[in-house]
Amino acid sequence: MEQIIQVKDLRFKPFISEAVILTHVERMANEINQTYRGQTVHLVILLKGAFIFGADLVRHLQIDHTIQFVKLSSYAGLASSGSIREEFGLSMDIKDKHILIIEDIVDTGTTLHYFFRKLLDAQPASLNIASLLVKPEALKYDIPVRFRGLDIENKFVVGYGLDYNDAARNLRDIYQLAE
Ligand code: 5GP
Repeated sequence: MEQIIQVKDLRFKPFISEAVILTHVERMANEINQTYRGQTVHLVILLKGAFIFGADLVRHLQIDHTIQFVKLSSYAGLASSGSIREEFGLSMDIKDKHILIIEDIVDTGTTLHYFFRKLLDAQPASLNIASLLVKPEALKYDIPVRFRGLDIENKFVVGYGLDYNDAARNLRDIYQLAE
């Protein structure tokens, strides 16, 4: 029997279990370890949504790294607003450094289209994206997601750091909006 949950005014159904999520997090960390072996990579974790993914991912890393946090927002409620607000940005100089952006989910790609180009202008040695989830049908921009967890259909999800109006981030599994 499906366990429907209520988050504020909406109902959600179980979608991706914690066990499946963690398998993909470990696989992605292994790919990152191989790609950056012998180098120092600077992880830029996008808040708030990617904080749990980032925390789980870094605990599988065996390479030199630093952790930075940036807060951008393009979402209000269930839909991407299309405009990006930078609530706090990157304070380090990224010129000639290896930078890896850690994102929870790429939806329209508006956020990363803006942020990726902004970081590219600062001339890093390399710039990649790791995203736990991607919604290919929602993409409006061609976003180069080098390390990719799962492709999902274009429906709103919560849990594992992802919120609905700041609720449900603490759910261990990922839930999808119930019809
Ligand atoms: P984009 O700019 O790609 O349209 O949206 C990216 C951001 O919107 C993500 O970092 C995430 O915070 C939020 N977002 C996109 N899709 C979803 C979703 O299905 N659920 C939740 N909770 N947030 C989402």
